Amino acid sequence: MIEVSHLTKKYGKLCANDDISLTVGAGEIGVLLGPNGAGKSTLIKSVCGLLRFKGTVTIAGFENHSVQAKRLLGYVPEFPALYPMLTVTEHLEFIARAYRLENWKEYAEELLARFELDDKRQKLGKELSKGMQQKVSVCCALLPRPTAVILDEPLVGLDPHGIRELKAVLADLRAQGCALLISTHMIDSVEENWDVTYIMNRGRIARTVRRTELDSGRRLEDAYFEVTEGEKSGESEAKE
Ligand code: ADP
Repeated sequence: MIEVSHLTKKYGKLCANDDISLTVGAGEIGVLLGPNGAGKSTLIKSVCGLLRFKGTVTIAGFENHSVQAKRLLGYVPEFPALYPMLTVTEHLEFIARAYRLENWKEYAEELLARFELDDKRQKLGKELSKGMQQKVSVCCALLPRPTAVILDEPLVGLDPHGIRELKAVLADLRAQGCALLISTHMIDSVEENWDVTYIMNRGRIARTVRRTELDSGRRLEDAYFEVTEGEKSGESEAKE
């Protein structure tokens, strides 16, 4: 489970995340939606322990900076950061060693095959296209079999096969009881498979939408535009 409680992050005077609380349970896909600048990346980086912030974040009950939390959390950043001089195989080996994994090779092979990387094993990080780098980044995040995974704009740059496979992998992880938090501005990409959506605007969670509570016939997109456009029209009315 991913639990964020009263998280506030400021860059100087700008409050990028303002008292954010959210929960993604085991076996749930949580989606973070919001326009550019809403504060999604800041929140993701804070949850992953890459930024300092006020408030608390726990992963399966462990404070997010703890070794236990890091062991249980997988992170797929928006921009893959591979080692230019390591091959695809070496990336996975590096992760296996860092996490002291045992019997990881079979799972590594399975992941490489799913993402059509099996013939790219000996390619260096710098030789891979953006989409291939993204796929390697996903494989590295999943190799330690995390119980919580955070993905920042994971489908951007992937080819159609990669998109279909990643969606299937996310559905499998959810079925296995993993807690998944996906940040995106592409509503279509998550419309089929989500449990709870947090719509962010100006550093705050403007609305929480549970799939079970969404009225029939209404789409996530409707709720999104109600929050983001609704606020804009309210603003212009106030100015007039
Ligand atoms: P999103 O991911 O939703 O597009 P961000 O979290 O990247 O939003 O940004 C939220 C706000 O914080 C924006 O106003 C952005 O300009 C600002 N911001 C992001 N990173 C920094 C930084 N390193 N220094 C100062 N301001 C930042």
